[in-house]
Amino acid sequence: MSTPQIIPPGSTIGILGGGQLGRMTALAAARLGYRCLVYAPDEHSIAGDVAAGYVRGDYDDTDALARFARRVDVITYEFENVPEAAVVACLEHKPVRPGVTPIHVAQHRLREKQFFATLGIGTADYQPVRNEAELAAATALPGILKTCREGYDGKGQARVHDRASLEAAWERLGRRECILEALVDFRCEVSAIVARGLDGAMRCFPIGLNDHRDGILHTTTVPADLAAETLATAERFGLALAQGLDLVGLVALEMFVTQDGTVLANEMAPRPHNSGHWTIDACATSQFEQLVRAICGLPLGPVDVTAPSRMENLIGEEATDWLRYLADPSARLHLYGKASARPGRKMGHVTFVQPAASSRRSTT
Ligand code: ATP
Ligand code: MG
Repeated sequence: MSTPQIIPPGSTIGILGGGQLGRMTALAAARLGYRCLVYAPDEHSIAGDVAAGYVRGDYDDTDALARFARRVDVITYEFENVPEAAVVACLEHKPVRPGVTPIHVAQHRLREKQFFATLGIGTADYQPVRNEAELAAATALPGILKTCREGYDGKGQARVHDRASLEAAWERLGRRECILEALVDFRCEVSAIVARGLDGAMRCFPIGLNDHRDGILHTTTVPADLAAETLATAERFGLALAQGLDLVGLVALEMFVTQDGTVLANEMAPRPHNSGHWTIDACATSQFEQLVRAICGLPLGPVDVTAPSRMENLIGEEATDWLRYLADPSARLHLYGKASARPGRKMGHVTFVQPAASSRRSTT
């Protein structure tokens, strides 16, 4: 068996996408001695701010992508809606990890659900709504109508109760390719984040318990106070997914736990995930470092919880409270450096870490 090719510290990692996930990846990479080059279409990039370099280019500019790829040793992406063609263009020059298949699957909700089924991962009942005939045949009511492509933070979705609201919602979503998912009466939501290395080794971070507000992740708590069997199923689904995708890198799987304890997959993201931000402050290895390790062919790091924690997203104006968090000894503040605090925008997060009993000392 040949040893997988290691991309050593000192090498350059290319990141497609310029948001906070790229930013935190670049910070973790720098700590291990790597340089990062960020590629994104925007004039300014908060990932580029902390990287060795920033290339502004469109995702359909294959010449610019080729030039970018030639300057790096390995490429990853920080969001799953990078056009497939952009990844293929990069792949002609350098390895792209986690690769094309994960985004091909993750970019389309119907394909994603079908892929889960092939791996024995359960989902809510669903039906495709791509045309009038499928609209007429759809029965998963009450449900959520979701566009197959380009939904995030609850955008491109509508709750529907009956046929009339279903038909109105499909009109409102522009009669685009959609899927109708039965509404799951869940007890809670959880996520599994799994790293898979170049040699096929896998590690699943401890399962996070997630609370959403207005369709956006609000908090993640770890350890999740759930039955061992539920946690084991969530982990098994995450591992099956990483293996099934044959991916090198990270994949996050969001799941529902129903009232009777059944675990159902919602969606996946082949990249670091908001519900894994707690790992920066309360886990032996952060999800960002784990991604760097995986794509560079390094051994994966340990995933032990170092302290119970609760991550809270700072959305819009909430980030203006930074002084309060800095004054709280249990709070670890992360601000993303975004210029304007638009409503619904993720501006930062704070992880509340339970202090270890032995480290509680008077500061006076
Ligand atoms: P994000 O990018 O934040 O993950 P998204 O736009 O991709 O969001 P989903 O993950 O599909 O959207 O849904 C967002 C939230 O809406 C879920 O976390 C859950 O709280 C709720 N939700 C989605 N689908 C269902 C369902 N079938 N039944 C009940 N609740 C649901
Ligand atoms: Mg989601």
